[in-house]
Amino acid sequence: MKIGVLALQGAFAEHEKALTALDAEVKEIRQLRDFDDSFDGIIIPGGESTVMGKLLRELGLFEPVSEYIKKGGYCFGTCAGLILLAQEVSNDDRKNFCTLPVRVKRNAYGRQLGSFSCKEDFAGKEITQVFIRAPYIEKVLDDECEVLSQHEGFITAVRYKNQLAAAFHPELTEDRTVHQYFLDMISGK
Ligand code: GLN
Repeated sequence: MKIGVLALQGAFAEHEKALTALDAEVKEIRQLRDFDDSFDGIIIPGGESTVMGKLLRELGLFEPVSEYIKKGGYCFGTCAGLILLAQEVSNDDRKNFCTLPVRVKRNAYGRQLGSFSCKEDFAGKEITQVFIRAPYIEKVLDDECEVLSQHEGFITAVRYKNQLAAAFHPELTEDRTVHQYFLDMISGK
């Protein structure tokens, strides 16, 4: 299975490590010529959504990635990646892919709680979740959007058709549950 990892900024190397550990083939997407419709799935990592949104446009990658997702290509976004996918961001007017029917709030846990980790269920299995200046999902905007994880009453991971998104950083722990979930989504398990 060949996964493209958007490698413009942020925590992409850790995603690559997680995918490699699960025997997936990884290809970094750094510029337009790296983007290729033969990917079985792509990952949009955490980082800074404003910077990533700007770089995607400057490099001519925004449209191809957007088309890929809209055509049903599998996509997994973490943290800033979730923000880029979200249909609505309650505290930011910038629009990005808007393919995931959720409303998110950026930097939702405030400054003092900027970074923390906790143990929560993800699709029925307890995992450690690391949050770094994370968003949370205030509202799911489509009944078909499945809630996979919650923390303190707020939604932190969802699946909608070909898209998976998490407010936390599964790539920063050694637990591969979430990456395996994404690979299983692609293989239709
Ligand atoms: N706070 C960042 C943003 O708004 C997201 C943080 C992260 O990806 N760890 O884009």
